[in-house]
Amino acid sequence: MMDKLAQETHLRFHEVPTMPPSLLGIRVEDTLRRAFIEAGGTLHVGDEVTSGVFRPSGEQLSLACIYTKKLKTVPINAEYFVLATGSFFSKGLVAGLNKVTEPIFDLDIATQGSRDQWYSEQFFSQSSHPFLSFGVETNQHFQPTKAGRTLENLYCAGSILPHYDPIAHGCGGGVAISTGYKVAEHVIAKSSVNTIPEAISEQRKGEMA
Ligand SMILES: Cc1cc2nc3c(=O)[nH]c(=O)nc-3n(C[C@H](O)[C@H](O)[C@H](O)COP(=O)(O)OP(=O)(O)OC[C@H]3O[C@@H](n4cnc5c(N)ncnc54)[C@H](O)[C@@H]3O)c2cc1C
Repeated sequence: MMDKLAQETHLRFHEVPTMPPSLLGIRVEDTLRRAFIEAGGTLHVGDEVTSGVFRPSGEQLSLACIYTKKLKTVPINAEYFVLATGSFFSKGLVAGLNKVTEPIFDLDIATQGSRDQWYSEQFFSQSSHPFLSFGVETNQHFQPTKAGRTLENLYCAGSILPHYDPIAHGCGGGVAISTGYKVAEHVIAKSSVNTIPEAISEQRKGEMA
C-alpha cells in the first residue's frame, strides 16, 4: 500500500504513532499475539488472575499455581510466572486509605511515608508526585518478595515496578519493554526448556516493521 501510494504520488509516506487506537499499535499487538500462540502459548482473553498458591522453597517461596476468575477452581501451573499487571490505572496496584497493596499475591510494596507524603501539594509540581514511583519491590532480577521472602519463580515487569517516575522521566513504555525483555532472558537462562522456538520469525518482524 505504502509502495503503491509512493509510486503514484512520487511522495514518501511515513506511519506515525498516534494516541489509542493506534494502527501501528494494533498491528504490533496482533503480530505478537499470533507469534505467542504459534509458539505454543494459550491466551485467556478477558480473564483475570485472582490468587496464587505459594510453597516454601528453602529460604525462598515458590509460586505453585494461579487461579483466575473464569476458571474458578481450575489451577494454572507453570515453571515460571511473570506479573505485568501495571500500576494504579490498570489495578496492578491498589491504594487504600493508608496502604498501597498488590492485590493478587499481596507482594511487598515500595512506598513512602504516610498518605499525605504520597503526593505533592501542587498538581503540576516540578518534583512530580511520589506515588508515581511506588511499586512491587524486587531484587536485581525483578523477583519480588512476599513478607520478606523472595519468590524464586515469579518475576515482575513494566509499570508495576517501583523507583522510576514515568511522568518525570518521560518514559513508561520503554521501561515495560526493556524489563519484560530482561525477565524473559533470565527465565530462558534458568528454564529446563533449553530449546525455545524462534518466537518472532523474520516474517513476523517484517509484518511489524
Ligand atoms: C493515556 C496514557 C498515555 C501514555 N502515553 C505514553 C507515552 O506516550 N509513552 C510512554 O512511554 N508511556 C506512555 N504511557 C504509559 C504506558 O502506557 C505504560 O507505562 C505501559 O503501558 C506500562 O505497561 P505494562 O505492561 O507494565 O502495564 P499496562 O499497560 O498497564 O498493562 C497491564 C495489564 O494487566 C492487566 N491486568 C491487571 N490486573 C490483572 C489481573 N488480575 N489479571 C489479569 N490481567 C490483569 C490490565 O488489564 C492491563 O491490560 C501512557 C499511559 C497512559 C494511561
